[in-house]
Amino acid sequence: MKIQTMAKTCPGCDGRVKQVEVEEHALFRGVEVAYTATLHQCAKCGLELAGIEEAAIMQERLVDAYRKAVGLLGSEDIRGLRKEKGLSQQGLADALEVGVASIKRWETGVIQSKSMDTLLRSFLQANPCSEHTGNREFSIPRIRLVLEAFAGQLKRPLLKRDDRMLYAAKYLWYADMAAFRDLGRGMTGATYAALPMGPQLNNYRDLIDEILKADMTSAPPLSKSETALIAAIARTFPTNKGIYDASHREPIWQRCATGANIPYSHAADLSEMPMRGSL
Ligand SMILES: [Zn+2]
Repeated sequence: MKIQTMAKTCPGCDGRVKQVEVEEHALFRGVEVAYTATLHQCAKCGLELAGIEEAAIMQERLVDAYRKAVGLLGSEDIRGLRKEKGLSQQGLADALEVGVASIKRWETGVIQSKSMDTLLRSFLQANPCSEHTGNREFSIPRIRLVLEAFAGQLKRPLLKRDDRMLYAAKYLWYADMAAFRDLGRGMTGATYAALPMGPQLNNYRDLIDEILKADMTSAPPLSKSETALIAAIARTFPTNKGIYDASHREPIWQRCATGANIPYSHAADLSEMPMRGSL
Protein backbone atom coordinates (compact mmCIF):
# COMPACT_ATOMS: atom_id res chain seq x y z
CA MET A 1 0.00 0.00 0.00
CA LYS A 2 1.21 3.50 -0.84
CA ILE A 3 0.66 6.45 1.49
CA GLN A 4 0.50 9.73 -0.37
CA THR A 5 -1.56 12.84 -1.00
CA MET A 6 -4.69 11.68 -2.82
CA ALA A 7 -4.73 11.96 -6.61
CA LYS A 8 -7.66 11.11 -8.89
CA THR A 9 -5.62 8.81 -11.05
CA CYS A 10 -3.34 5.88 -10.25
CA PRO A 11 0.37 6.79 -10.11
CA GLY A 12 1.19 3.37 -11.63
CA CYS A 13 -1.15 2.99 -14.61
CA ASP A 14 -3.23 6.18 -14.83
CA GLY A 15 -6.39 4.16 -14.05
CA ARG A 16 -9.26 5.67 -12.03
CA VAL A 17 -8.90 5.64 -8.25
CA LYS A 18 -11.95 5.21 -5.99
CA GLN A 19 -12.65 4.88 -2.29
CA VAL A 20 -13.17 1.35 -0.97
CA GLU A 21 -13.70 -0.38 2.38
CA VAL A 22 -11.57 -3.45 2.83
CA GLU A 23 -11.16 -5.98 5.62
CA GLU A 24 -7.53 -5.91 6.69
CA HIS A 25 -5.70 -8.54 8.74
CA ALA A 26 -2.53 -7.78 10.60
CA LEU A 27 -0.27 -9.07 13.32
CA PHE A 28 0.10 -6.43 16.02
CA ARG A 29 2.25 -7.03 19.11
CA GLY A 30 1.97 -10.73 18.42
CA VAL A 31 -1.85 -10.69 18.24
CA GLU A 32 -3.77 -11.34 15.02
CA VAL A 33 -6.32 -8.62 14.47
CA ALA A 34 -8.87 -7.77 11.78
CA TYR A 35 -10.21 -4.30 11.09
CA THR A 36 -11.99 -2.35 8.35
CA ALA A 37 -9.84 0.07 6.42
CA THR A 38 -11.16 2.90 4.30
CA LEU A 39 -8.71 3.53 1.49
CA HIS A 40 -8.45 4.19 -2.25
CA GLN A 41 -7.90 1.58 -4.90
CA CYS A 42 -7.09 1.73 -8.60
CA ALA A 43 -9.97 0.18 -10.55
CA LYS A 44 -7.57 -0.98 -13.25
CA CYS A 45 -4.48 -2.44 -11.57
CA GLY A 46 -5.78 -2.83 -8.00
CA LEU A 47 -3.02 -0.73 -6.38
CA GLU A 48 -4.07 0.31 -2.87
CA LEU A 49 -3.48 3.90 -1.83
CA ALA A 50 -4.11 5.71 1.43
CA GLY A 51 -4.11 9.44 2.08
CA ILE A 52 -2.34 10.68 5.18
CA GLU A 53 -5.62 11.06 7.07
CA GLU A 54 -6.84 7.66 5.94
CA ALA A 55 -3.57 6.13 7.12
CA ALA A 56 -3.98 7.74 10.53
CA ILE A 57 -7.55 6.43 10.88
CA MET A 58 -6.41 2.99 9.76
CA GLN A 59 -3.66 3.00 12.36
CA GLU A 60 -6.22 3.95 15.02
CA ARG A 61 -8.55 1.12 13.93
CA LEU A 62 -5.70 -1.36 13.94
CA VAL A 63 -4.71 -0.35 17.46
CA ASP A 64 -8.37 -0.40 18.59
CA ALA A 65 -8.80 -3.91 17.18
CA TYR A 66 -5.77 -4.95 19.20
CA ARG A 67 -7.12 -3.24 22.33
CA LYS A 68 -10.44 -5.05 21.91
CA ALA A 69 -8.63 -8.37 21.41
CA VAL A 70 -6.72 -7.99 24.68
CA GLY A 71 -9.68 -6.56 26.65
CA LEU A 72 -8.80 -2.85 26.76
CA LEU A 73 -11.13 0.07 25.99
CA GLY A 74 -10.57 1.45 22.48
CA SER A 75 -10.20 5.10 21.47
CA GLU A 76 -13.82 5.30 20.40
CA ASP A 77 -15.01 3.58 23.59
CA ILE A 78 -13.21 6.13 25.74
CA ARG A 79 -14.41 9.08 23.66
CA GLY A 80 -18.00 7.78 23.59
CA LEU A 81 -18.24 6.98 27.31
CA ARG A 82 -16.67 10.32 28.19
CA LYS A 83 -19.22 12.20 26.09
CA GLU A 84 -22.09 10.16 27.55
CA LYS A 85 -21.03 11.47 30.94
CA GLY A 86 -20.96 15.02 29.56
CA LEU A 87 -17.26 15.39 30.34
CA SER A 88 -14.63 17.34 28.45
CA GLN A 89 -11.18 15.77 28.03
CA GLN A 90 -9.98 18.11 30.78
CA GLY A 91 -12.88 17.08 33.02
CA LEU A 92 -12.02 13.40 32.67
CA ALA A 93 -8.32 14.12 33.23
CA ASP A 94 -9.12 15.97 36.47
CA ALA A 95 -11.44 13.22 37.68
CA LEU A 96 -8.74 10.57 37.14
CA GLU A 97 -5.91 12.86 38.27
CA VAL A 98 -3.95 12.37 35.04
CA GLY A 99 -2.73 14.94 32.52
CA VAL A 100 -5.10 15.97 29.73
CA ALA A 101 -2.39 14.93 27.24
CA SER A 102 -2.89 11.30 28.34
CA ILE A 103 -6.62 11.44 27.62
CA LYS A 104 -5.91 12.97 24.21
CA ARG A 105 -3.41 10.22 23.40
CA TRP A 106 -5.72 7.40 24.50
CA GLU A 107 -8.47 8.84 22.32
CA THR A 108 -6.19 8.88 19.28
CA GLY A 109 -4.70 5.41 19.27
CA VAL A 110 -2.11 5.32 22.06
CA ILE A 111 -2.61 2.22 24.22
CA GLN A 112 -3.33 2.72 27.93
CA SER A 113 -1.80 0.45 30.56
CA LYS A 114 -3.94 -2.26 32.13
CA SER A 115 -4.10 -0.34 35.43
CA MET A 116 -5.18 2.86 33.65
CA ASP A 117 -7.78 0.84 31.76
CA THR A 118 -9.20 -0.41 35.07
CA LEU A 119 -9.33 3.16 36.36
CA LEU A 120 -11.03 4.39 33.17
CA ARG A 121 -13.60 1.61 33.33
CA SER A 122 -14.42 2.05 37.00
CA PHE A 123 -14.98 5.76 36.45
CA LEU A 124 -16.67 5.74 33.02
CA GLN A 125 -18.82 2.62 33.33
CA ALA A 126 -19.86 2.73 36.99
CA ASN A 127 -22.45 5.02 38.59
CA PRO A 128 -25.46 4.51 36.36
CA CYS A 129 -27.11 7.33 38.35
CA SER A 130 -24.34 9.85 37.74
CA GLU A 131 -26.63 11.40 35.16
CA HIS A 132 -28.60 12.89 38.06
CA THR A 133 -26.16 12.93 40.97
CA GLY A 134 -22.98 14.12 39.25
CA ASN A 135 -20.74 11.15 40.21
CA ARG A 136 -21.10 11.83 43.91
CA GLU A 137 -23.08 10.42 46.81
CA PHE A 138 -25.75 12.79 48.10
CA SER A 139 -24.57 14.59 51.25
CA ILE A 140 -26.60 17.10 53.26
CA PRO A 141 -23.56 18.17 55.35
CA ARG A 142 -21.76 18.92 52.09
CA ILE A 143 -24.66 21.09 50.92
CA ARG A 144 -24.27 23.10 54.12
CA LEU A 145 -20.48 23.22 53.65
CA VAL A 146 -20.83 24.57 50.10
CA LEU A 147 -23.47 27.12 51.13
CA GLU A 148 -21.29 28.34 54.02
CA ALA A 149 -18.34 28.66 51.61
CA PHE A 150 -20.54 30.80 49.36
CA ALA A 151 -21.67 32.91 52.33
CA GLY A 152 -18.01 33.50 53.20
CA GLN A 153 -17.22 34.60 49.65
CA LEU A 154 -20.34 36.74 49.25
CA LYS A 155 -20.01 38.16 52.79
CA ARG A 156 -23.72 37.59 53.44
CA PRO A 157 -25.75 34.64 54.73
CA LEU A 158 -27.52 32.52 52.11
CA LEU A 159 -29.88 30.45 54.27
CA LYS A 160 -32.47 31.28 56.87
CA ARG A 161 -35.18 29.25 58.60
CA ASP A 162 -38.05 28.31 56.26
CA ASP A 163 -35.92 29.49 53.35
CA ARG A 164 -37.60 28.80 50.01
CA MET A 165 -34.10 28.43 48.56
CA LEU A 166 -34.94 30.67 45.67
CA TYR A 167 -31.35 31.93 45.58
CA ALA A 168 -29.33 29.47 47.68
CA ALA A 169 -30.40 26.65 45.35
CA LYS A 170 -29.11 28.62 42.35
CA TYR A 171 -25.64 28.97 43.94
CA LEU A 172 -25.68 25.26 44.79
CA TRP A 173 -26.79 24.34 41.29
CA TYR A 174 -24.03 26.33 39.61
CA ALA A 175 -21.49 24.83 42.03
CA ASP A 176 -22.63 21.28 41.28
CA MET A 177 -22.98 21.69 37.53
CA ALA A 178 -19.75 23.65 37.00
CA ALA A 179 -17.82 21.22 39.24
CA PHE A 180 -19.17 18.30 37.24
CA ARG A 181 -18.18 20.03 34.00
CA ASP A 182 -14.76 21.26 35.10
CA LEU A 183 -13.68 18.73 37.76
CA GLY A 184 -15.45 15.54 36.73
CA ARG A 185 -17.87 15.32 39.68
CA GLY A 186 -20.41 17.52 41.40
CA MET A 187 -19.93 18.90 44.91
CA THR A 188 -23.01 17.66 46.82
CA GLY A 189 -24.64 14.77 44.93
CA ALA A 190 -27.89 16.77 44.92
CA THR A 191 -30.48 16.44 42.17
CA TYR A 192 -32.19 19.48 40.67
CA ALA A 193 -35.56 19.98 39.06
CA ALA A 194 -36.35 22.49 36.33
CA LEU A 195 -39.05 24.63 37.96
CA PRO A 196 -40.61 27.86 36.67
CA MET A 197 -38.54 29.80 39.25
CA GLY A 198 -35.38 28.22 37.81
CA PRO A 199 -33.28 25.20 38.81
CA GLN A 200 -34.34 24.04 42.29
CA LEU A 201 -32.94 21.51 44.77
CA ASN A 202 -35.28 18.50 44.78
CA ASN A 203 -37.31 18.18 48.01
CA TYR A 204 -35.93 21.46 49.32
CA ARG A 205 -38.89 21.93 51.68
CA ASP A 206 -38.06 18.69 53.50
CA LEU A 207 -34.32 19.27 53.33
CA ILE A 208 -34.03 22.83 54.58
CA ASP A 209 -34.18 21.97 58.32
CA GLU A 210 -31.73 19.11 57.82
CA ILE A 211 -29.33 21.41 55.99
CA LEU A 212 -29.53 24.08 58.69
CA LYS A 213 -28.63 21.66 61.47
CA ALA A 214 -26.18 19.48 59.47
CA ASP A 215 -22.72 18.86 60.93
CA MET A 216 -20.31 20.25 58.34
CA THR A 217 -17.31 18.49 59.88
CA SER A 218 -18.82 15.15 58.87
CA ALA A 219 -18.60 16.12 55.17
CA PRO A 220 -15.50 15.55 53.02
CA PRO A 221 -13.66 18.92 53.08
CA LEU A 222 -13.71 21.08 49.96
CA SER A 223 -10.73 20.54 47.64
CA LYS A 224 -8.63 23.49 46.45
CA SER A 225 -10.27 23.35 43.00
CA GLU A 226 -13.74 23.24 44.56
CA THR A 227 -12.97 26.25 46.75
CA ALA A 228 -11.60 28.11 43.73
CA LEU A 229 -14.71 27.29 41.72
CA ILE A 230 -17.01 28.53 44.50
CA ALA A 231 -15.01 31.78 44.61
CA ALA A 232 -15.29 32.13 40.82
CA ILE A 233 -19.07 31.60 40.91
CA ALA A 234 -19.43 34.15 43.72
CA ARG A 235 -17.36 36.64 41.69
CA THR A 236 -19.44 35.99 38.56
CA PHE A 237 -22.76 36.30 40.43
CA PRO A 238 -22.31 38.66 43.38
CA THR A 239 -26.06 39.30 43.76
CA ASN A 240 -29.14 37.12 44.20
CA LYS A 241 -30.81 38.81 41.28
CA GLY A 242 -27.74 38.24 39.11
CA ILE A 243 -27.65 34.48 39.68
CA TYR A 244 -31.44 34.17 39.47
CA ASP A 245 -31.54 35.88 36.07
CA ALA A 246 -28.48 34.00 34.78
CA SER A 247 -30.01 30.62 35.66
CA HIS A 248 -33.08 31.54 33.58
CA ARG A 249 -30.85 32.17 30.57
CA GLU A 250 -29.29 28.69 30.81
CA PRO A 251 -30.32 26.49 27.88
CA ILE A 252 -30.02 23.36 30.04
CA TRP A 253 -32.82 24.68 32.29
CA GLN A 254 -34.85 26.03 29.35
CA ARG A 255 -34.68 22.70 27.50
CA CYS A 256 -36.06 20.63 30.43
CA ALA A 257 -39.79 20.05 30.85
CA THR A 258 -41.20 21.66 34.00
CA GLY A 259 -40.50 19.41 36.98
CA ALA A 260 -37.98 17.20 35.15
CA ASN A 261 -34.56 16.53 36.64
CA ILE A 262 -31.77 18.54 35.01
CA PRO A 263 -29.13 16.00 33.93
CA TYR A 264 -25.52 16.69 34.95
CA SER A 265 -24.51 15.31 31.56
CA HIS A 266 -25.77 18.57 30.04
CA ALA A 267 -23.41 20.65 32.18
CA ALA A 268 -21.08 21.19 29.20
CA ASP A 269 -23.73 23.56 27.81
CA LEU A 270 -23.70 25.99 30.74
CA SER A 271 -23.66 29.40 29.09
CA GLU A 272 -23.39 31.91 31.94
CA MET A 273 -20.53 30.40 33.94
CA PRO A 274 -17.18 30.50 32.09
CA MET A 275 -15.07 27.34 31.91
CA ARG A 276 -12.31 27.05 34.48
CA GLY A 277 -9.12 28.33 32.91
CA SER A 278 -10.96 30.92 30.83
CA LEU A 279 -11.65 33.05 33.93
ZN1 LIG B 1 -3.40 1.46 -11.43
